[in-house]
Amino acid sequence: MAKRDFYDVLGVNRDASDDEIKKAYRKLAMKYHPDRNPDNPKAEEHFKEAKEAYEILSDGQKRAAYDQYGHAGVDPQAGMGGGFGGFGGAGGFSDAFGGIFDEIFGGGGGGARGGRSNVYRGADLRYNLEITLEQAAFGTETKIRIPTMEVCESCKGSGAKAGTQPKTCPTCQGSGQVRLQQGFFSIQQTCPKCHGTGKFIADPCGSCHGAGRVKQHKTLAVKIPAGVDEGDRIRLSGEGEHGVNGGPSGDLYVQIHLKPHAVFQRDGNDLHCEMPISFTTAALGGEIEIPTLDGAANLKIPGETQSGKVFRLRGKGIKGVRSHAHGDLLCHVVVETPVNLTERQKELLRELEESSSGDAERHNPRAKSWMDKVKEFFAG
Ligand SMILES: [Zn+2]
Ligand SMILES: [Zn+2]
Repeated sequence: MAKRDFYDVLGVNRDASDDEIKKAYRKLAMKYHPDRNPDNPKAEEHFKEAKEAYEILSDGQKRAAYDQYGHAGVDPQAGMGGGFGGFGGAGGFSDAFGGIFDEIFGGGGGGARGGRSNVYRGADLRYNLEITLEQAAFGTETKIRIPTMEVCESCKGSGAKAGTQPKTCPTCQGSGQVRLQQGFFSIQQTCPKCHGTGKFIADPCGSCHGAGRVKQHKTLAVKIPAGVDEGDRIRLSGEGEHGVNGGPSGDLYVQIHLKPHAVFQRDGNDLHCEMPISFTTAALGGEIEIPTLDGAANLKIPGETQSGKVFRLRGKGIKGVRSHAHGDLLCHVVVETPVNLTERQKELLRELEESSSGDAERHNPRAKSWMDKVKEFFAG
């Protein structure tokens, strides 16, 4: 079910004062309080709805966000890409002032909690970029497409319907601030009607609903330096969300993710690969061609090479972004047992086995010593 408009919930106009909002909420809270309505199951629902509306509209900052973006501006669950985190980011600032105002007004100061300024830095954004191992090793340039809030074409950013203009706010005469006399104190606070903008939009633009901005996409070129690894972040300064009311833009962080590679596994700046060799090459030795990131290389396999042996090719790994040394390439030998043998081939192997069975200690020392241990085990 669609969420009801907060102003409708409280039954007040969009330009209602903080006092009117507070009064409307009090009335509803009294009427629907669950303790006073034990026989009305709907009462609690109404009560909660009114409470939520009041919490947003009584907070100048949240109310401004709601006026501009609707429920998406104030609901952390709303799917606007998390871009509106900027509003939360200013929380520390408004809280610092909120404390003082709360003391003076005895709490619930309404619009005063909005602080003195509605200028916020835009939120930082993150973009997940998947690249290949080769691109990570040698660096690359790529283009990414990201959502962004741009100036609304229909109203040229004013937020007012075509042919109309935002009016000067009648409450603050355009200054965005109002002065209150409270005992000894004269306090300047953000204008509750225009939330500090100094302008009042009677007839909002249909395309942006008065926000002056609309969601669009932009394409950015990103330079990936050679050597980046999984989880590294590249900062594009000022490419995050736009600031609010002239605040600076946030940053965009491009987070690197590596696609799995068919041959290599990366471990820091080292690369690992599995290197299956034939039974005969393992026994007699030979030269095999192995892949490296800069092309094929030849590797000499000495005779009598066992499964699990690791050959280290120095400098054939990746040169890290921050280090100047190259990593190594480590080739892990796997001796492959021959399969799909013909009768003739089987015969040759049997012949080999027979010729060496007389002196197992010499030709298969590992198997021999293992068998001896097994015998000892059963004998004991
Ligand atoms: Zn005003
Ligand atoms: Zn517009």
